[in-house]
Amino acid sequence: MRCPCQSGEHFESCCAKYLAATVGGQRSFPPTAEALMRSRFSAFALGDAGYLLHTWHPSTRPESLELDPDQQWYLLEILDTRQGGYFDQEGVVTFRAHYRSAANRKIKDSLTETSSFVRDGKQWLYGDALEFH
Ligand SMILES: [Zn+2]
Repeated sequence: MRCPCQSGEHFESCCAKYLAATVGGQRSFPPTAEALMRSRFSAFALGDAGYLLHTWHPSTRPESLELDPDQQWYLLEILDTRQGGYFDQEGVVTFRAHYRSAANRKIKDSLTETSSFVRDGKQWLYGDALEFH
């Protein structure tokens, strides 16, 4: 299976190793803010709310997260990244995430967002939506 994050890699050698952290697998950390963003998109695509909460900064994390099963996230575009690299503590990623309705696959829409990310030790965390486009 190709990774839902559009990296072109197999899921197993891409986001699977990050998502596994929440189910007690071998723990591995996305090395950059963009990699975290991609892994969170994969979690949206696969309906893994646990991983989304796990990678959300405690200051902005919701109590719980209900994912809409009708929203099929199928395409991610990374439009811009600022910092968020191996040696950074903060980063900003602008992305466009596309979804379609499971009930009617002709109904499609997308979300374009500029998001902040912060590093907590080895773990990048999603901070906040800075801007919607
Ligand atoms: Zn991936």
